[in-house]
Amino acid sequence: MNKRWTIHKINDFVEKNSESKLLSTEYHGFSQKLEFQCACGSRFEKTFTKFKNNHQRKCDACQPPKTSR
Ligand SMILES: [Zn+2]
Repeated sequence: MNKRWTIHKINDFVEKNSESKLLSTEYHGFSQKLEFQCACGSRFEKTFTKFKNNHQRKCDACQPPKTSR
């Protein structure tokens, strides 16, 4: 199943599945970095794939990147 994401669906997903906010207003594909605002107020950029599949839903300060596990 190939689910097509739009900026609206992504915004919805971000709202329901994280404490971050989506700042980007356009979505052009999986390789695009989207801009988010973390609950702490910091902004960070991430592809939606990472945000969704790797559960990287906060800024690096609140959720330091893990190398393993
Ligand atoms: Zn944060």
